[in-house]
Amino acid sequence: MLKFFNTLSGQLEEFRPIREGEVGIYFCGPTVWDYAHIGNFRSLGVFGDTLRRYLRYKGYRVTHVMNITDVEDRIIKFSQERGQTIDEYTARFIAALWEDFDALGCERPDIIPRATEHISEMVSLIEKLVETGHAYQSDGSYYFRITSFPEYGKLSKINFAGNIAGASERVDTDKYEKEDARDFALWKAQESPGEPAWDTSLGAGRPGWHIECSAMSMKYLGETFDIHAGGVDLVFPHHENEIAQSEAATGQKFANYWLHAEHLKVEGESMSKSKGNYFTFRDLLEKGFDPIAIRYLLLSVPYRKQLNFTFEGLRGAEKTVASLRDFRTRLRDTRTEPGSNTELHAAAARSLAEFETALDDDLNTSVALAAIHNLSREVNRALDGCALRADDQREILELIARFDSVFNIFGGDEREMLDTEIQALIDERQDARHRRDFARADEIRGELAARGIVLEDTRDGVRWKRRGT
Ligand code: AMP
Ligand code: ZN
Repeated sequence: MLKFFNTLSGQLEEFRPIREGEVGIYFCGPTVWDYAHIGNFRSLGVFGDTLRRYLRYKGYRVTHVMNITDVEDRIIKFSQERGQTIDEYTARFIAALWEDFDALGCERPDIIPRATEHISEMVSLIEKLVETGHAYQSDGSYYFRITSFPEYGKLSKINFAGNIAGASERVDTDKYEKEDARDFALWKAQESPGEPAWDTSLGAGRPGWHIECSAMSMKYLGETFDIHAGGVDLVFPHHENEIAQSEAATGQKFANYWLHAEHLKVEGESMSKSKGNYFTFRDLLEKGFDPIAIRYLLLSVPYRKQLNFTFEGLRGAEKTVASLRDFRTRLRDTRTEPGSNTELHAAAARSLAEFETALDDDLNTSVALAAIHNLSREVNRALDGCALRADDQREILELIARFDSVFNIFGGDEREMLDTEIQALIDERQDARHRRDFARADEIRGELAARGIVLEDTRDGVRWKRRGT
Protein backbone atom coordinates (compact mmCIF):
# COMPACT_ATOMS: atom_id res chain seq x y z
CA MET A 1 0.00 0.00 0.00
CA LEU A 2 1.49 3.28 -1.13
CA LYS A 3 1.80 5.89 1.62
CA PHE A 4 2.97 9.46 1.62
CA PHE A 5 3.74 11.81 4.45
CA ASN A 6 1.22 14.57 3.94
CA THR A 7 2.38 17.92 5.32
CA LEU A 8 -1.26 19.00 5.52
CA SER A 9 -2.28 16.28 7.98
CA GLY A 10 1.19 15.90 9.47
CA GLN A 11 0.83 12.13 9.00
CA LEU A 12 1.71 9.21 6.83
CA GLU A 13 -1.40 8.51 4.75
CA GLU A 14 -2.44 5.91 2.25
CA PHE A 15 -2.46 7.43 -1.22
CA ARG A 16 -5.90 7.49 -2.83
CA PRO A 17 -6.22 9.36 -6.09
CA ILE A 18 -9.30 11.38 -7.03
CA ARG A 19 -9.84 9.41 -10.23
CA GLU A 20 -9.00 5.75 -10.21
CA GLY A 21 -5.80 4.96 -12.03
CA GLU A 22 -4.84 8.59 -12.57
CA VAL A 23 -2.66 11.03 -10.67
CA GLY A 24 -2.16 14.75 -11.13
CA ILE A 25 1.02 16.23 -9.68
CA TYR A 26 1.90 19.89 -9.52
CA PHE A 27 5.52 20.58 -8.68
CA CYS A 28 6.75 24.10 -7.93
CA GLY A 29 9.44 24.66 -10.50
CA PRO A 30 12.45 26.93 -10.75
CA THR A 31 12.78 30.66 -10.96
CA VAL A 32 14.92 30.94 -14.05
CA TRP A 33 17.18 33.82 -13.08
CA ASP A 34 20.32 31.64 -13.11
CA TYR A 35 21.41 28.05 -13.71
CA ALA A 36 19.64 25.69 -11.32
CA HIS A 37 21.79 24.43 -8.43
CA ILE A 38 22.13 20.90 -7.11
CA GLY A 39 19.64 21.62 -4.30
CA ASN A 40 17.03 22.52 -6.92
CA PHE A 41 17.81 19.27 -8.70
CA ARG A 42 17.39 17.24 -5.55
CA SER A 43 13.90 18.59 -5.24
CA LEU A 44 12.36 19.32 -8.64
CA GLY A 45 14.74 16.99 -10.49
CA VAL A 46 15.37 13.69 -8.76
CA PHE A 47 12.56 13.75 -6.17
CA GLY A 48 9.98 14.89 -8.75
CA ASP A 49 11.23 12.25 -11.18
CA THR A 50 11.14 9.44 -8.61
CA LEU A 51 7.63 10.41 -7.59
CA ARG A 52 6.33 10.34 -11.15
CA ARG A 53 8.21 7.17 -12.08
CA TYR A 54 7.09 5.24 -9.03
CA LEU A 55 3.47 6.26 -9.47
CA ARG A 56 3.71 5.05 -13.05
CA TYR A 57 5.39 1.85 -11.84
CA LYS A 58 2.34 1.36 -9.61
CA GLY A 59 0.14 1.55 -12.70
CA TYR A 60 -1.11 5.13 -12.53
CA ARG A 61 -1.43 7.40 -15.51
CA VAL A 62 0.50 10.45 -14.33
CA THR A 63 0.10 14.07 -15.37
CA HIS A 64 3.09 15.92 -14.02
CA VAL A 65 2.94 19.70 -14.21
CA MET A 66 5.92 21.86 -13.29
CA ASN A 67 5.82 25.62 -13.66
CA ILE A 68 8.59 27.93 -14.68
CA THR A 69 8.69 31.24 -12.84
CA ASP A 70 9.98 33.57 -15.50
CA VAL A 71 8.97 36.92 -14.06
CA GLU A 72 10.41 37.93 -10.73
CA ASP A 73 12.50 40.74 -9.24
CA ARG A 74 15.92 39.23 -9.95
CA ILE A 75 14.94 38.39 -13.51
CA ILE A 76 13.71 41.93 -14.05
CA LYS A 77 16.85 43.44 -12.54
CA PHE A 78 19.36 41.30 -14.47
CA SER A 79 17.54 41.47 -17.78
CA GLN A 80 17.38 45.26 -17.49
CA GLU A 81 21.08 45.46 -16.64
CA ARG A 82 21.83 43.51 -19.81
CA GLY A 83 19.38 45.44 -21.95
CA GLN A 84 17.44 42.27 -22.69
CA THR A 85 13.76 41.40 -22.60
CA ILE A 86 12.63 38.92 -19.98
CA ASP A 87 12.32 36.23 -22.66
CA GLU A 88 15.79 36.86 -24.01
CA TYR A 89 17.29 36.75 -20.55
CA THR A 90 15.53 33.59 -19.35
CA ALA A 91 15.90 31.61 -22.61
CA ARG A 92 19.39 30.34 -21.86
CA PHE A 93 18.54 29.25 -18.32
CA ILE A 94 15.47 27.41 -19.53
CA ALA A 95 17.48 25.68 -22.27
CA ALA A 96 20.13 24.78 -19.69
CA LEU A 97 17.48 23.41 -17.33
CA TRP A 98 16.38 20.84 -19.92
CA GLU A 99 19.92 19.89 -20.82
CA ASP A 100 20.56 19.29 -17.13
CA PHE A 101 17.32 17.32 -16.73
CA ASP A 102 18.35 15.10 -19.62
CA ALA A 103 21.87 14.57 -18.35
CA LEU A 104 20.56 13.78 -14.88
CA GLY A 105 18.25 11.15 -16.35
CA CYS A 106 15.09 12.96 -15.26
CA GLU A 107 12.05 12.79 -17.49
CA ARG A 108 10.62 16.15 -18.42
CA PRO A 109 7.26 16.99 -16.86
CA ASP A 110 4.25 16.55 -19.14
CA ILE A 111 3.10 20.15 -18.91
CA ILE A 112 5.48 23.04 -18.27
CA PRO A 113 3.52 26.27 -17.94
CA ARG A 114 5.37 29.55 -17.81
CA ALA A 115 4.13 32.39 -15.64
CA THR A 116 4.43 34.98 -18.41
CA GLU A 117 2.15 32.90 -20.61
CA HIS A 118 -0.65 32.68 -18.03
CA ILE A 119 -1.21 36.29 -17.05
CA SER A 120 -4.87 36.26 -18.08
CA GLU A 121 -5.61 33.19 -15.93
CA MET A 122 -4.02 34.95 -12.95
CA VAL A 123 -5.96 38.14 -13.60
CA SER A 124 -9.25 36.20 -13.70
CA LEU A 125 -8.43 34.51 -10.42
CA ILE A 126 -7.57 37.83 -8.77
CA GLU A 127 -10.80 39.36 -10.08
CA LYS A 128 -12.74 36.51 -8.58
CA LEU A 129 -11.01 37.07 -5.23
CA VAL A 130 -11.84 40.77 -5.33
CA GLU A 131 -15.49 40.04 -6.18
CA THR A 132 -15.80 37.64 -3.26
CA GLY A 133 -14.15 39.98 -0.77
CA HIS A 134 -10.92 37.98 -0.44
CA ALA A 135 -8.73 40.60 -2.11
CA TYR A 136 -8.50 44.37 -2.25
CA GLN A 137 -6.70 47.03 -4.16
CA SER A 138 -4.31 49.56 -2.70
CA ASP A 139 -2.39 52.08 -4.82
CA GLY A 140 -2.87 49.98 -7.94
CA SER A 141 -1.60 46.74 -6.36
CA TYR A 142 -3.83 43.93 -5.17
CA TYR A 143 -3.51 41.99 -1.94
CA PHE A 144 -5.04 38.88 -0.47
CA ARG A 145 -7.06 39.60 2.67
CA ILE A 146 -5.82 37.03 5.15
CA THR A 147 -8.58 37.69 7.67
CA SER A 148 -11.10 36.52 5.05
CA PHE A 149 -9.64 32.99 5.17
CA PRO A 150 -9.83 31.64 8.73
CA GLU A 151 -8.02 28.44 7.86
CA TYR A 152 -4.86 30.36 6.98
CA GLY A 153 -1.93 28.50 8.57
CA LYS A 154 -3.37 24.98 8.25
CA LEU A 155 -0.47 23.71 6.16
CA SER A 156 2.47 25.28 7.97
CA LYS A 157 0.80 25.00 11.42
CA ILE A 158 2.19 28.40 12.25
CA ASN A 159 0.22 30.18 14.90
CA PHE A 160 -0.73 33.51 13.40
CA ALA A 161 -2.18 34.97 16.56
CA GLY A 162 0.80 37.26 17.01
CA ASN A 163 1.94 39.91 14.62
CA ILE A 164 4.35 38.54 12.05
CA ALA A 165 4.78 41.68 10.02
CA GLY A 166 7.11 41.36 7.10
CA ALA A 167 7.48 37.59 7.35
CA SER A 168 5.24 36.71 4.50
CA GLU A 169 6.83 37.67 1.19
CA ARG A 170 9.90 35.97 -0.18
CA VAL A 171 10.66 38.90 -2.38
CA ASP A 172 9.32 41.72 -0.33
CA THR A 173 8.24 44.54 -2.54
CA ASP A 174 4.99 45.28 -0.76
CA LYS A 175 5.64 48.89 -0.16
CA TYR A 176 2.07 50.06 -0.13
CA GLU A 177 -0.64 50.32 2.45
CA LYS A 178 -1.99 46.95 3.43
CA GLU A 179 -4.89 46.28 5.74
CA ASP A 180 -2.88 43.71 7.63
CA ALA A 181 0.87 43.17 7.59
CA ARG A 182 0.34 39.50 6.70
CA ASP A 183 -1.61 40.24 3.53
CA PHE A 184 0.40 39.30 0.49
CA ALA A 185 0.60 40.74 -3.00
CA LEU A 186 -1.42 39.17 -5.80
CA TRP A 187 -0.64 41.86 -8.33
CA LYS A 188 2.08 44.49 -8.25
CA ALA A 189 1.37 47.81 -9.93
CA GLN A 190 3.96 49.07 -12.37
CA GLU A 191 6.10 51.62 -10.55
CA SER A 192 8.10 53.17 -13.34
CA PRO A 193 7.66 53.21 -17.12
CA GLY A 194 10.72 51.00 -17.69
CA GLU A 195 9.44 48.18 -15.49
CA PRO A 196 8.02 45.17 -17.33
CA ALA A 197 4.26 45.22 -17.07
CA TRP A 198 1.12 43.75 -18.57
CA ASP A 199 -1.84 45.97 -19.36
CA THR A 200 -4.81 44.19 -17.88
CA SER A 201 -8.19 44.92 -16.36
CA LEU A 202 -6.35 45.22 -13.04
CA GLY A 203 -4.21 48.01 -14.47
CA ALA A 204 -0.59 47.88 -15.62
CA GLY A 205 1.51 45.59 -13.50
CA ARG A 206 2.79 42.10 -12.97
CA PRO A 207 1.66 39.14 -10.91
CA GLY A 208 2.95 38.27 -7.46
CA TRP A 209 4.73 34.94 -7.21
CA HIS A 210 2.13 32.86 -5.35
CA ILE A 211 -0.80 33.49 -7.66
CA GLU A 212 0.92 31.89 -10.64
CA CYS A 213 0.94 28.44 -9.06
CA SER A 214 -2.75 28.61 -8.06
CA ALA A 215 -3.78 29.75 -11.53
CA MET A 216 -1.62 27.29 -13.47
CA SER A 217 -2.18 24.22 -11.29
CA MET A 218 -5.95 24.61 -11.40
CA LYS A 219 -5.91 25.29 -15.13
CA TYR A 220 -4.14 22.03 -15.92
CA LEU A 221 -5.23 19.76 -13.07
CA GLY A 222 -8.62 21.09 -11.96
CA GLU A 223 -9.77 22.90 -8.83
CA THR A 224 -8.92 19.90 -6.68
CA PHE A 225 -6.00 17.69 -7.59
CA ASP A 226 -3.97 14.90 -6.06
CA ILE A 227 -0.43 15.93 -5.22
CA HIS A 228 1.26 19.26 -4.77
CA ALA A 229 5.00 19.10 -4.14
CA GLY A 230 8.10 21.21 -3.72
CA GLY A 231 10.95 21.94 -1.35
CA VAL A 232 10.34 22.53 2.38
CA ASP A 233 11.20 26.20 2.04
CA LEU A 234 7.95 26.58 0.12
CA VAL A 235 5.59 25.39 2.88
CA PHE A 236 5.42 28.92 4.20
CA PRO A 237 4.55 31.32 2.79
CA HIS A 238 4.26 30.06 -0.79
CA HIS A 239 2.10 26.98 -0.34
CA GLU A 240 0.11 28.44 2.53
CA ASN A 241 -0.74 31.35 0.25
CA GLU A 242 -1.57 29.09 -2.67
CA ILE A 243 -4.09 27.24 -0.48
CA ALA A 244 -5.64 30.50 0.72
CA GLN A 245 -6.02 31.98 -2.77
CA SER A 246 -7.28 28.81 -4.39
CA GLU A 247 -9.68 27.62 -1.71
CA ALA A 248 -11.03 31.14 -1.14
CA ALA A 249 -11.75 31.40 -4.87
CA THR A 250 -13.28 27.98 -5.46
CA GLY A 251 -14.65 26.93 -2.09
CA GLN A 252 -13.07 23.52 -2.79
CA LYS A 253 -10.14 21.71 -1.28
CA PHE A 254 -7.08 22.62 -3.38
CA ALA A 255 -4.63 19.70 -3.22
CA ASN A 256 -5.10 16.44 -1.32
CA TYR A 257 -1.47 15.53 -0.61
CA TRP A 258 1.33 17.97 0.07
CA LEU A 259 4.83 16.50 -0.28
CA HIS A 260 7.92 18.46 0.68
CA ALA A 261 11.54 17.59 0.06
CA GLU A 262 14.13 18.56 2.66
CA HIS A 263 17.01 20.71 1.67
CA LEU A 264 20.40 19.70 0.50
CA LYS A 265 23.46 21.04 2.28
CA VAL A 266 27.02 21.02 1.07
CA GLU A 267 29.66 19.66 3.44
CA GLY A 268 27.22 20.34 6.28
CA GLU A 269 26.49 23.95 5.41
CA SER A 270 23.73 25.62 3.49
CA MET A 271 24.81 26.58 0.01
CA SER A 272 25.64 30.16 -0.73
CA LYS A 273 27.62 31.86 -3.43
CA SER A 274 29.59 33.89 -0.86
CA LYS A 275 30.73 30.74 0.97
CA GLY A 276 32.00 29.24 -2.27
CA ASN A 277 30.02 26.03 -1.67
CA TYR A 278 27.32 26.76 -4.23
CA PHE A 279 27.24 24.33 -7.13
CA THR A 280 25.12 24.16 -10.20
CA PHE A 281 24.75 20.75 -11.80
CA ARG A 282 26.96 21.85 -14.68
CA ASP A 283 29.68 22.98 -12.24
CA LEU A 284 29.94 19.35 -11.15
CA LEU A 285 29.96 18.07 -14.73
CA GLU A 286 32.76 20.45 -15.56
CA LYS A 287 34.73 19.03 -12.66
CA GLY A 288 34.41 15.72 -14.47
CA PHE A 289 31.79 13.95 -12.33
CA ASP A 290 29.47 11.37 -13.83
CA PRO A 291 25.90 12.79 -13.99
CA ILE A 292 24.43 9.44 -13.00
CA ALA A 293 26.62 9.36 -9.90
CA ILE A 294 25.15 12.74 -8.99
CA ARG A 295 21.70 11.25 -9.55
CA TYR A 296 22.61 8.28 -7.35
CA LEU A 297 23.85 10.53 -4.57
CA LEU A 298 20.66 12.61 -4.69
CA LEU A 299 18.62 9.39 -4.52
CA SER A 300 20.58 7.84 -1.71
CA VAL A 301 18.80 9.76 1.05
CA PRO A 302 14.99 9.67 1.34
CA TYR A 303 13.48 12.94 0.24
CA ARG A 304 12.24 13.99 3.67
CA LYS A 305 15.70 13.73 5.23
CA GLN A 306 18.29 16.40 4.86
CA LEU A 307 20.98 15.39 2.41
CA ASN A 308 24.55 16.33 3.09
CA PHE A 309 26.30 16.60 -0.24
CA THR A 310 30.05 15.96 0.00
CA PHE A 311 32.67 15.36 -2.65
CA GLU A 312 33.75 12.24 -0.82
CA GLY A 313 30.15 11.03 -1.07
CA LEU A 314 30.07 11.84 -4.75
CA ARG A 315 33.27 9.90 -5.41
CA GLY A 316 31.74 7.00 -3.48
CA ALA A 317 28.60 7.25 -5.63
CA GLU A 318 30.75 7.06 -8.77
CA LYS A 319 32.24 3.79 -7.56
CA THR A 320 28.84 2.41 -6.61
CA VAL A 321 27.26 3.29 -9.94
CA ALA A 322 30.22 1.78 -11.80
CA SER A 323 29.96 -1.44 -9.77
CA LEU A 324 26.23 -1.72 -10.48
CA ARG A 325 26.89 -1.35 -14.18
CA ASP A 326 29.68 -3.92 -14.03
CA PHE A 327 27.33 -6.26 -12.25
CA ARG A 328 24.70 -5.95 -14.96
CA THR A 329 27.27 -6.40 -17.73
CA ARG A 330 28.71 -9.47 -16.04
CA LEU A 331 25.25 -10.91 -15.56
CA ARG A 332 24.30 -10.25 -19.17
CA ASP A 333 27.51 -11.62 -20.65
CA THR A 334 27.75 -14.81 -18.62
CA ARG A 335 27.08 -18.03 -20.51
CA THR A 336 24.55 -20.06 -18.61
CA GLU A 337 23.24 -23.58 -18.63
CA PRO A 338 19.47 -24.09 -18.98
CA GLY A 339 17.39 -24.35 -15.82
CA SER A 340 16.93 -22.32 -12.70
CA ASN A 341 18.38 -22.00 -9.24
CA THR A 342 15.70 -21.92 -6.55
CA GLU A 343 17.85 -19.86 -4.20
CA LEU A 344 18.35 -17.14 -6.77
CA HIS A 345 14.70 -17.21 -7.69
CA ALA A 346 13.87 -16.65 -4.01
CA ALA A 347 16.50 -13.90 -3.74
CA ALA A 348 14.96 -12.08 -6.72
CA ALA A 349 11.47 -12.28 -5.22
CA ARG A 350 12.79 -11.02 -1.88
CA SER A 351 14.60 -8.15 -3.49
CA LEU A 352 11.52 -7.08 -5.43
CA ALA A 353 9.38 -7.18 -2.29
CA GLU A 354 11.96 -5.12 -0.36
CA PHE A 355 12.16 -2.58 -3.17
CA GLU A 356 8.39 -2.09 -3.37
CA THR A 357 7.84 -2.08 0.39
CA ALA A 358 10.50 0.62 0.74
CA LEU A 359 9.11 2.85 -1.99
CA ASP A 360 5.55 2.32 -0.79
CA ASP A 361 6.77 3.70 2.51
CA ASP A 362 6.84 7.36 1.47
CA LEU A 363 9.47 6.69 -1.22
CA ASN A 364 12.22 5.36 1.01
CA THR A 365 14.85 5.37 -1.70
CA SER A 366 17.77 4.40 0.51
CA VAL A 367 16.14 1.12 1.60
CA ALA A 368 15.06 0.45 -2.00
CA LEU A 369 18.65 0.93 -3.19
CA ALA A 370 19.82 -1.44 -0.46
CA ALA A 371 17.47 -4.08 -1.90
CA ILE A 372 19.28 -3.77 -5.24
CA HIS A 373 22.69 -4.03 -3.58
CA ASN A 374 21.64 -7.12 -1.61
CA LEU A 375 20.54 -8.80 -4.79
CA SER A 376 23.73 -7.90 -6.64
CA ARG A 377 25.81 -9.38 -3.80
CA GLU A 378 23.89 -12.66 -3.91
CA VAL A 379 24.00 -12.88 -7.68
CA ASN A 380 27.70 -12.05 -7.81
CA ARG A 381 28.33 -14.85 -5.35
CA ALA A 382 26.34 -17.23 -7.54
CA LEU A 383 28.31 -16.08 -10.58
CA ASP A 384 31.56 -16.74 -8.74
CA GLY A 385 30.36 -20.27 -8.02
CA CYS A 386 28.90 -20.82 -11.53
CA ALA A 387 25.49 -21.35 -9.90
CA LEU A 388 23.50 -19.07 -12.16
CA ARG A 389 21.15 -20.68 -14.70
CA ALA A 390 19.49 -19.30 -17.83
CA ASP A 391 16.10 -18.69 -16.19
CA ASP A 392 17.73 -16.78 -13.32
CA GLN A 393 19.74 -14.71 -15.72
CA ARG A 394 16.60 -13.66 -17.61
CA GLU A 395 14.61 -13.09 -14.45
CA ILE A 396 17.26 -10.95 -12.79
CA LEU A 397 17.97 -8.89 -15.90
CA GLU A 398 14.26 -8.17 -16.14
CA LEU A 399 14.16 -7.28 -12.48
CA ILE A 400 17.03 -4.81 -12.91
CA ALA A 401 15.13 -3.20 -15.77
CA ARG A 402 12.10 -2.87 -13.49
CA PHE A 403 14.17 -1.30 -10.74
CA ASP A 404 15.72 0.99 -13.27
CA SER A 405 12.36 2.17 -14.59
CA VAL A 406 12.18 4.00 -11.25
CA PHE A 407 15.82 4.79 -10.47
CA ASN A 408 17.45 5.08 -13.88
CA ILE A 409 20.95 4.53 -12.52
CA PHE A 410 22.22 1.60 -14.56
CA GLY A 411 22.50 3.70 -17.71
CA GLY A 412 21.51 2.75 -21.23
CA ASP A 413 23.71 2.24 -24.25
CA GLU A 414 23.95 5.89 -25.13
CA ARG A 415 25.49 6.82 -28.41
CA GLU A 416 28.70 8.67 -27.83
CA MET A 417 29.28 11.99 -29.55
CA LEU A 418 31.52 11.67 -32.57
CA ASP A 419 34.87 13.46 -32.50
CA THR A 420 33.81 15.60 -35.46
CA GLU A 421 30.62 16.71 -33.69
CA ILE A 422 32.64 17.69 -30.64
CA GLN A 423 35.19 19.60 -32.70
CA ALA A 424 32.43 21.49 -34.54
CA LEU A 425 30.97 22.67 -31.24
CA ILE A 426 34.39 23.67 -29.95
CA ASP A 427 34.99 25.71 -33.10
CA GLU A 428 31.61 27.38 -32.69
CA ARG A 429 32.51 28.20 -29.10
CA GLN A 430 35.79 29.80 -30.18
CA ASP A 431 33.86 31.87 -32.73
CA ALA A 432 31.38 32.96 -30.09
CA ARG A 433 34.23 34.04 -27.82
CA HIS A 434 35.79 36.10 -30.59
CA ARG A 435 32.44 37.80 -31.06
CA ARG A 436 32.43 38.32 -27.28
CA ASP A 437 29.20 36.32 -27.14
CA PHE A 438 30.16 34.71 -23.85
CA ALA A 439 26.64 33.54 -23.18
CA ARG A 440 26.72 31.29 -26.25
CA ALA A 441 30.26 30.18 -25.42
CA ASP A 442 29.16 29.16 -21.92
CA GLU A 443 26.14 27.43 -23.32
CA ILE A 444 28.29 25.29 -25.62
CA ARG A 445 30.60 24.42 -22.78
CA GLY A 446 27.55 23.36 -20.75
CA GLU A 447 26.14 21.35 -23.64
CA LEU A 448 29.40 19.47 -24.04
CA ALA A 449 29.70 18.90 -20.31
CA ALA A 450 26.20 17.44 -20.29
CA ARG A 451 27.32 14.97 -22.99
CA GLY A 452 30.35 13.93 -20.97
CA ILE A 453 32.94 16.08 -22.74
CA VAL A 454 35.25 18.12 -20.57
CA LEU A 455 37.08 21.11 -22.06
CA GLU A 456 40.41 22.48 -21.02
CA ASP A 457 41.56 25.88 -22.27
CA THR A 458 45.32 25.78 -22.71
CA ARG A 459 47.82 28.15 -24.24
CA ASP A 460 47.91 25.97 -27.32
CA GLY A 461 44.16 26.05 -27.77
CA VAL A 462 41.27 24.01 -26.49
CA ARG A 463 41.78 20.42 -25.50
CA TRP A 464 38.96 18.06 -24.76
CA LYS A 465 38.51 14.68 -23.24
CA ARG A 466 35.72 12.31 -22.47
CA ARG A 467 34.87 12.20 -18.82
CA GLY A 468 36.42 9.29 -17.02
CA THR A 469 39.16 8.77 -19.64
P1 AMP B 1 13.61 28.29 -6.60
O1 AMP B 1 14.16 28.40 -7.98
O2 AMP B 1 14.45 28.92 -5.55
O3 AMP B 1 12.17 28.75 -6.53
O4 AMP B 1 13.61 26.75 -6.20
C1 AMP B 1 13.13 25.72 -7.03
C2 AMP B 1 12.93 24.45 -6.21
O5 AMP B 1 14.15 24.03 -5.60
C3 AMP B 1 11.92 24.60 -5.07
O6 AMP B 1 11.15 23.41 -4.99
C4 AMP B 1 12.81 24.77 -3.86
O7 AMP B 1 12.17 24.36 -2.68
C5 AMP B 1 13.96 23.85 -4.19
N1 AMP B 1 15.22 24.17 -3.49
C6 AMP B 1 15.83 25.36 -3.38
N2 AMP B 1 16.97 25.26 -2.65
C7 AMP B 1 17.11 23.96 -2.33
C8 AMP B 1 18.07 23.17 -1.57
N3 AMP B 1 19.18 23.72 -1.06
N4 AMP B 1 17.83 21.85 -1.43
C9 AMP B 1 16.74 21.27 -1.97
N5 AMP B 1 15.80 21.93 -2.68
C10 AMP B 1 15.97 23.25 -2.85
ZN1 ZN C 1 4.70 27.31 -6.67
